[in-house]
Amino acid sequence: VAKNGIQPLRKLYDGKAKAVYETADPDLLVIRFKDEAPGRRRGRSPRPPFPKGVYNCSISAALFRHLEARGVPTHFVRILSDRDLLVRRLLIIPIEVVIRNIVAGSLARRLGLEEGQRLDAPVLEFYYKSDALGDPMINESHVRVMGIATPEEVQQIKETALRINGHLLRYVEQRGLLLVDFKVEFGRRSGSVLLGDEITPDGCRFWEGTARRPAGDRRRRTLGRSARAYRELSRRIAGEPIDDRPPHA
Ligand code: UDP
Repeated sequence: VAKNGIQPLRKLYDGKAKAVYETADPDLLVIRFKDEAPGRRRGRSPRPPFPKGVYNCSISAALFRHLEARGVPTHFVRILSDRDLLVRRLLIIPIEVVIRNIVAGSLARRLGLEEGQRLDAPVLEFYYKSDALGDPMINESHVRVMGIATPEEVQQIKETALRINGHLLRYVEQRGLLLVDFKVEFGRRSGSVLLGDEITPDGCRFWEGTARRPAGDRRRRTLGRSARAYRELSRRIAGEPIDDRPPHA
């Protein structure tokens, strides 16, 4: 049961990693982080359960708080419990914005670049959020002709995403981590564009190391998506005491 009388009521969205609920206040939603393993493990055996929702909740809250304190407008209001965040309701813009600082994943595959290569400047990509289409990569002209966002909104999204990258890069570097790439989503609220959704290791690649102290070989530097990695990222990024019990103990 959440503090201060705010209760999750009707479920608006139910995904693998989180559910979103309405509250008695039409302007406020609850994001509840779930323990299911990230759904991007095609063809591999599922992970044993661990309190991923608790780690994701504390990591996302710490990063949103940090960004708010640096003047980045976000939907974050406060933490309600170890798995619940209170956020303002946005009209989500159906674009996944990916920012990359180091070559990895689909960028390496698509352009034939070597994984781990530092990019001279951040690379920004748009993907159209559509399960039916498999989230295709799009560019600004697609966004415009499909009426997904206005040119002004696109400009604001790009500028804000790059500012977010700068803040997050420094924040995690101080904790001995490299922010390889990450995904964010934005939404509209009373005429402006705000950072929405969540920022968790489900949608970010973190590697061990810093710009001055690049990590050793790839297996040592990659903080994958194991229970150990989430626990370690939560400890370093959120730094708060966390409920470490398995979900059904
Ligand atoms: N990402 C995400 N959701 C997606 C696709 C990618 O959050 O549906 C994140 C992913 O975690 C990574 C970044 O976006 O931090 C870039 O992912 P990439 O395009 O390299 O795809 P991947 O190789 O991870 O499938």
